[in-house]
Amino acid sequence: MKKFVQLTTLLIITALTLFGCGTAKASESVETVKIAYLPITHSLAALEEADELADNENVRVELVKYGSWPELLDALNSGQVDGASVLIELAMKSKAEGVGIKAVALGHKDGNVIVVSNDVKSGADLKGKTIAIPHRQSSHNILVNDALSKDGLSIDDINVVELAPTEMPSALAAGTIDGYCVAEPFGAMGVSIGAGKVLYTSEELWEDSVCCALVLTDDFIENHKDTAKLFVEGYKTAGNNLDADTAKKVAKEYLNQKDDVLDISLKWISYDNLEITKEQYEELAEKVKTYGLSDNPPAYEDFVENDF
Ligand code: ZN
Repeated sequence: MKKFVQLTTLLIITALTLFGCGTAKASESVETVKIAYLPITHSLAALEEADELADNENVRVELVKYGSWPELLDALNSGQVDGASVLIELAMKSKAEGVGIKAVALGHKDGNVIVVSNDVKSGADLKGKTIAIPHRQSSHNILVNDALSKDGLSIDDINVVELAPTEMPSALAAGTIDGYCVAEPFGAMGVSIGAGKVLYTSEELWEDSVCCALVLTDDFIENHKDTAKLFVEGYKTAGNNLDADTAKKVAKEYLNQKDDVLDISLKWISYDNLEITKEQYEELAEKVKTYGLSDNPPAYEDFVENDF
């Protein structure tokens, strides 16, 4: 009888263990990638991917929204998130300062404009004007420099101010600034409210311009190699799926912007083929050095990860 009790107990324990393991395995097979983003059209590929993978059995995206680049960067640099959709120059600076991150894809292609007050007739009129950018470490800074050099001017000929993106359209309307270049849809917003007009689109200044990147921490890539691979593949697929209608749908879901603002803005941007090529990156690194954003941008081989 004692033997029978022991045997039953053993069977129960075995069953519980097996059942327990089975449950653990099922939940372990789905891995979540925590991605920081700002509610801008430049992060739509990450937002679309989160929607597309919502019911995926292997990898899902947990989006963490931030209100500014410095806040997002803090979270990325301190490892509170696994990755981010971020201005590539900010990520390059973090990398140069020793933060373990890799750029695994572009955020988008094109998609920036320089908006100026209606009385600015040409690039030459920018002399002596006040132009806002979101951050010194940005392609917006580079594009303003490119615009000035087109007309034989330099950054010393204008006043550059750093301003929060959300404040730029109203600052232009109020005449506090004469123009700005920033992540979308804030350029489109300035146009939509009649505060200004487009002086240059990014492709008129810098063909195949690079702006935002999707980055992952080295820690995440090293410890979750398979998930990182699935995540990056899913991200590129999501980018390729962002046609005009899908982009508008996702933008409306996450950005809380008016239809006409999105309609103007989404004409300027695309999300297909988001791999970062060496040629694109080297052109960016050259501009970063030329315009004084950084003397030592990270090498492509150290910073960009395409093979998983
Ligand atoms: Zn961008």
